[in-house]
Amino acid sequence: MDFDLSEEQIAMRDLARDFAEKEIAPIVEEDEKHHRFRPEIVRKMGELGFFGVVVPEEYGGTAMGLLSSVIMTEEVAKVSASYGLPFNMQTIGPGYVILNYGSEEQKRKYLPALVNAEMLGCFAITEPGSGSDVASMKTTATEYDDCFVLNGQKTWISNAQVADIGIVYAYTDRAAKARGMSAFAVELKNTPGITTVPIESKVGLHSAPTGEVIFEDAKIPKSALIGQKGDGFKICMSMLDNTRMSCAARAVGVGRGAIDAAIKYANERMQFGQPISDFQMVQDQIAQSLVENDAARLLVWRAAANRDKGARNTMEVSMAKYFAAESAVNAAGNAVKIFGSYGFSTEYPAERFFRDSKSFQIVEGTSNIQKIIIAGFALGKRK
Ligand SMILES: Cc1cc2nc3c(=O)[nH]c(=O)nc-3n(C[C@H](O)[C@H](O)[C@H](O)COP(=O)(O)OP(=O)(O)OC[C@H]3O[C@@H](n4cnc5c(N)ncnc54)[C@H](O)[C@@H]3O)c2cc1C
Repeated sequence: MDFDLSEEQIAMRDLARDFAEKEIAPIVEEDEKHHRFRPEIVRKMGELGFFGVVVPEEYGGTAMGLLSSVIMTEEVAKVSASYGLPFNMQTIGPGYVILNYGSEEQKRKYLPALVNAEMLGCFAITEPGSGSDVASMKTTATEYDDCFVLNGQKTWISNAQVADIGIVYAYTDRAAKARGMSAFAVELKNTPGITTVPIESKVGLHSAPTGEVIFEDAKIPKSALIGQKGDGFKICMSMLDNTRMSCAARAVGVGRGAIDAAIKYANERMQFGQPISDFQMVQDQIAQSLVENDAARLLVWRAAANRDKGARNTMEVSMAKYFAAESAVNAAGNAVKIFGSYGFSTEYPAERFFRDSKSFQIVEGTSNIQKIIIAGFALGKRK
């Protein structure tokens, strides 16, 4: 692809590709079948500097920027969508929130640990009754002289049961609506009153833990507040601008993984005395998937490159997330078709790509929500 990548970016991309092929590819199918998550893989990714690219050097990173991050994310997600997720769980989500809004104490305590994956992270917005409508959440943080006390339930939280540190969104003042929401850096494992329950009923992403987080009079120190009381909604929306971009990069990776598998299979599978790749309708499926995948990558790279220049580009991010998600589902769906009955078999990779691709239409704001954002900007209803 013709895009001006620096030598350093090419080196990081190759490192991520190499790592995914050597360390993840050999175990991906078995682990996904047995719902196995290996924290040691995330730790190695941290040691190799995968998560540090968006963090300044003084907090343990290399400050290469978001474009470098999305390029690496794609390479890992091409092999495993599950292990593409830690980019968001470590620094693109929690790390960036702390970097942009946290106190100096929070930055020193958490950023280096998130960069090298000594601590695993998560972020908790969604609740049983509150998904797309973030402001309708019910979790509260009641302020006392020496602490806040959290009560409520979060669900569908990636990394819930393995995370050391979570960015938790809760109301400090419900009457003030979105302006009464606050963000907290919560040490999930060290705080009495916090329990987690794994969600095992997922369709895909089986090597990525997901669960509920329940707060019952969980006392957290005042120093856990990120920014000011009432900043939570603003922090959450700016966090989603970053995590959406990373999610879109994951979708591009899964789309590419599905296309590569379909091309290989189409050249091998013989029907009517010739490889099925000779048939124009199969070529049409591959051509459409490839064009959409490349277009999605360009949207993601544009959004990331512009963000690296300092622009807050919510519309570009939503365009990238929407199109990358839809194109990943199309590419994986075409792969299932090209594999025929083997596309319906758990012994071949097409069905895994398809199951995992569906998550991108839901997480970090559904495809409908992305279209609402895009149309809102286009129609002048959002600025
Ligand atoms: C694998 C996975 C991992 C996740 N990880 C996290 C995490 O780490 N942290 C976290 O906080 N959350 C996480 N989530 C939750 C995810 O962000 C929510 O599922 C998502 O925001 C959608 O919310 P919902 O499922 O409640 O759907 P709902 O909001 O109930 O939406 C249901 C349907 O209605 C549509 N809809 C809703 N409102 C509108 C509207 N105004 N206009 C048009 N259509 C609308 C939606 O598009 C969707 O099709 C995860 C989810 C999954 C599946």
